Amino acid sequence: MHLDNLSKSRIREIQGLLNKLGYYTYIIDGILGNYSKNAIKNFQNDNNLNETGQLDAQTLNRIDQFIMGYVPYTIQKGDTLYNIANAFKTNVWRIIAANPGINPFMLEIGQSIIIPLNYQVVPTNVPYTYDIMENNILALKKRYPMMMYESIGESVDGRQLYHITIGNGSNHVIYNGTHHANEWITSPLLMKWLENFLEVYVRRGTIRGYNTEDIWNRATIHIVPMVNPDGVDLVINGATEYGKNKEQLIAWNFDSDDFDDWKSNIRGVDLNRNYNAGWQEYKDLEGEFGITGPGPYLFAGTAPESEPESFAMANLTRNIVTRLVLAYHTQGQVIFWQFRDLQPEVSVVIGDAFARASGYELASETLSQSLAGYKDWYIQDFRKPGYTIEAGLGENPLPLDQFDMMYENNEELLLLASII
Ligand SMILES: [Zn+2]
Repeated sequence: MHLDNLSKSRIREIQGLLNKLGYYTYIIDGILGNYSKNAIKNFQNDNNLNETGQLDAQTLNRIDQFIMGYVPYTIQKGDTLYNIANAFKTNVWRIIAANPGINPFMLEIGQSIIIPLNYQVVPTNVPYTYDIMENNILALKKRYPMMMYESIGESVDGRQLYHITIGNGSNHVIYNGTHHANEWITSPLLMKWLENFLEVYVRRGTIRGYNTEDIWNRATIHIVPMVNPDGVDLVINGATEYGKNKEQLIAWNFDSDDFDDWKSNIRGVDLNRNYNAGWQEYKDLEGEFGITGPGPYLFAGTAPESEPESFAMANLTRNIVTRLVLAYHTQGQVIFWQFRDLQPEVSVVIGDAFARASGYELASETLSQSLAGYKDWYIQDFRKPGYTIEAGLGENPLPLDQFDMMYENNEELLLLASII
C-alpha cells in the first residue's frame, strides 16, 4: 500500500466520485479521514472487494473505472442490449452511442464492447486539475466516439494542450478557457457543456430549444478547455511538486506559498498579455504597474507568443477559418468585444445577443481598454468577432458553489455562438 503517494487532489477526485455515487457526504478536503474510510468500506462492500477502508490497488482500480465512467464487456450467449443495460443499470442509448459499429439485432458472441455507466463524468464538485480534465477527455472519447481530440502542443512543463472538436459544419468557432490559472473554473464550465451537448446529441435532442443535430451539421466547435494547465495545477496544488523551482515560484509570488492570485503560466508570464496586439505598447507600461519580471500576473514575457501555450493557441486560430472566438475568464459577468475599434460592425450585434442569452453585461467602451490579450489579437488580425467573457462574480479563484449559476448563465450563449 502506498497511501502517501496519493496527492491531495487525487484524494479529492476520489472523494468527489464517492460523493457522486452517494457514499460520501462530508466535505471534499483531500484528507483520508474517518468519513472517507467509511465511504471506501461501503464502496468496497458493494463491489465485492475486501472491506479494508484503504485505497489499495484493487480498490483504486475499481474507483478508476467509475471515474472513467465505463466498463469493458464481452458479449455472452443470449445477451441483448436491453439485458446488458439492465445488468449495468445503464441505458441502451448509452451503449449504442459508445459502440458505433454495433448491431443491436445481431450481437456477436465474444465481441468486445464498452458499457458507459449511467451518469456524467465531468465533476463539478472538485477543484479541476489537469489530470482530472485529461481523464474526462479520454472518458468522453470512449463514451462519445464522434468527439475528436488532439494535442496542439505542450505546456512549459510538458502537459498536453488539448483541442477538442465536435460537429462537422462549415461554421468554425473556437471556445477556450483558463488562460489565467486562478480562473480554472472556466475549464469545467466548457467540459460540462461539452458533455451535456454530446449526451443530448446522441439522442438527437434539443437543449434550450437548440437542435443539437442541426448545430452538429452547421458548426464545428473547437474547444481548448485549459490553455494554462501548469498554472492551474500550481494554483490548486501549490508549489510542493516543483523541487528546486519551488523557491523561484514562491519568490515570484511575493514570497508567498499561497498561489490563489496566480494567473500566469509556470514561467511567470501572463498568457493573456502575450499576444501580438499592442504588445510593445503594453510592455512599455509594465513599469507603471510595478511589473519588473516574471510574477503571478501582468508580466507580458519577452516577446509576443514567447510562451508555448499562447503560441499553440494562436497557431490553432491561424489554422482555422473561424467565424468567431470566445475566451472564457472570471470574473465580472461582463462581455468584452472591442479592440481599438478594429472589430467588425456585427460584433456589437452578436455581443448584444450573447448579453441577452447570458444575462451578462456588454462592456462599454471605456471598460474595454485591454492590450495583448487573445481576443484583442484575434480582432486585430482577423477583423472578426472575438469576445472575452468574464463569467461569475467574486474573488478568483471563484468557489465551486458558483458553478451551477455560471453554467446556467452560459449554456445558451455557448449554443448560440456556434451558429450565429
Ligand atoms: Zn482572466
